[in-house]
Amino acid sequence: MSGMDFQTILDEINTELRPLLGTGGKVASYIPALARVSPLQFGIALRTCAGQTAQAGDSATPFSIQSMSKMFSLTLAIRALGEAMWDRIGREPSGSPFNSLVQLESERGIPRNPFINAGAIAVADRLVSQGDAKVELLALLGRLCGEPIHIDAEVARSEADTGFRNTALANFMKGFGTLDNDVATVLDVYFNQCAIAMSCEQVACAAGYLCRDGRHPLAGTPVLSAAQARRVNALMLTCGTYDAAGEFAFRIGLPCKSGVGGGIVAVVPDRLSLCVWSPGLDGTGNSWLGRQALELFVAKTGLSVF
Ligand code: GLN
Repeated sequence: MSGMDFQTILDEINTELRPLLGTGGKVASYIPALARVSPLQFGIALRTCAGQTAQAGDSATPFSIQSMSKMFSLTLAIRALGEAMWDRIGREPSGSPFNSLVQLESERGIPRNPFINAGAIAVADRLVSQGDAKVELLALLGRLCGEPIHIDAEVARSEADTGFRNTALANFMKGFGTLDNDVATVLDVYFNQCAIAMSCEQVACAAGYLCRDGRHPLAGTPVLSAAQARRVNALMLTCGTYDAAGEFAFRIGLPCKSGVGGGIVAVVPDRLSLCVWSPGLDGTGNSWLGRQALELFVAKTGLSVF
């Protein structure tokens, strides 16, 4: 297994899937800046625990990481707050779309988990209480990748201009006492974190602490404790792809976190972290081709937590 030729495997996946570009999936249109992204792109990159890298297709092209940022903001919040992070945020799969409002009412403003929009907005609120959340998040990502990471200002503006549902979620939670800070400040953090631009290669590197018991992918120093990293992985498996999480576990069997920019990051514990990207989405808001790429990767390598 250790001698697996990952570069050949990623090249094969790229060759097999590239002809499918444009035949399925639709780019997210509810954020105008994302609607302008060409759907005819596919990238894949991985980084092993030993530091070996492999990449294929548009793996160096920056894209909007969107909800993949929720994994990193959760990491910052766990670092800052430990167990208290969970005081007003649940850990159960939602079984409903990422921007759903209905559950919040019956559950009195407590979001089901930190990866649906309501949960990530609540995490952003905790980060605002700790300091300059935007700066902290970019600093964490810069350290994890070993190079500076930026926010795409146009996407951030577009999110803010059209973020009506997110504004509703935040106001609703504020009404229930789930948010400590003012709604505008919290949403500014949330919209900006979603608008961070990174490539598959950068995301695969940045997520490296999740396959290394919480240790920094380049320096080996602790980012999270081993127990905390295990929990983030567990949440990715059960909640990282929203109401498709069961199907992802069934077909792929890896902790995954998706974003509506078309990226999906996956973790093979103790082996590697992997990022796929293709902007066309399926009906659950997950990358249509990215999901097929992960299925192919698992089929070709046999790597899965199950
Ligand atoms: N910015 C997006 C939103 O708030 C993030 C959603 C996602 O990537 N699933 O709707």
